[in-house]
Amino acid sequence: MRALQLLDDRKLEITDLPEPPAPSAGEVTLRVKAVALNHIDVWGWRGMAFAKRKMPLVIGAEAAGVVEEIGPGVANVLPGQLVSIYGARTCGLCRPCREGRDNLCEHVSGVHGFHLDGFAQEKVNLPARLLVLAPPGVDAIGAAVAPVTFGTVEHMLFDNARLEPGETILIHAGGSGIGSAAIQLAKKMGCTVITTVGSDDKIDKAKALGADHVINYRVDRFEGVVRKLTRKKGVDVVFEHVGKDTWAGSMLCLKRGGRLVTCGSTSGVSTDMNLMMLFQQQLKLLGSFGCRMENMADAMQKMARGLVHPVIDTLVGFDDIERALERMEGRQVFGKIVLAL
Ligand SMILES: [Zn+2]
Repeated sequence: MRALQLLDDRKLEITDLPEPPAPSAGEVTLRVKAVALNHIDVWGWRGMAFAKRKMPLVIGAEAAGVVEEIGPGVANVLPGQLVSIYGARTCGLCRPCREGRDNLCEHVSGVHGFHLDGFAQEKVNLPARLLVLAPPGVDAIGAAVAPVTFGTVEHMLFDNARLEPGETILIHAGGSGIGSAAIQLAKKMGCTVITTVGSDDKIDKAKALGADHVINYRVDRFEGVVRKLTRKKGVDVVFEHVGKDTWAGSMLCLKRGGRLVTCGSTSGVSTDMNLMMLFQQQLKLLGSFGCRMENMADAMQKMARGLVHPVIDTLVGFDDIERALERMEGRQVFGKIVLAL
């Protein structure tokens, strides 16, 4: 069967791997239908010195597939069903896992497509408990963007930042996969949404998703515009994932007691921080990574009800993957790039 393997930094190859064996107890064999690309794939492809990493590595952290065969004892899915796949290999035994908070697993073996083989392969065997059933009305693309995109955003906005209807939120990079999901989720619950984009052609697209105000951060300083829009009061919540380039401005955008939630640092992992502002303004900084299983189910329910939809930049095949990663790295995307199998 075909697979996309990273052999070395910036060296991806379509390879031929043996098909997985029959699923063992608690496992299923999935036929992978769609893999959504993320910045974690760009980092992996660029090469970064992370522990627990092996080469060659099948890429792909976020995917959906159809159950082909179930092993003994599997009761949560049936052959033929479309499922969304949790992005990390968690233990299922520790207390956080038993409580459905797999992103706090005490014995996680790693993130698929980054530390462990990922999902850009035709078939894969996985523990059934890491699969979430897609409801009717959600297709393979919707199920593929439920774990790392919509699940991450659900966890950030609702579990961590505890966003409330009527609040104002600044969402960075509204054209990114998670940005385009966050705009929709925040708007649909009745928030005022301010977002940033890096080019004028993305302004109308962000507005179409529900953004009330769109700032081209290459033209205007976003912190100045946000202060003007909120009459110097600031926003309740900042949705961060850019990091180094925006961190100081993001803190300036918060109202007293405001919350900053972050799940990424695409522009750099280190930054200076004004600690006096942190305590005097009583800001809350919330780190978020991955999601709970329930976040994936919630996201797909909202898709099924037509409240939100995956924003797709491009659908690509195995042959286009390096161009797709370059496109992501160059920030040319609006929404997700999805590899269709
Ligand atoms: Zn665990």
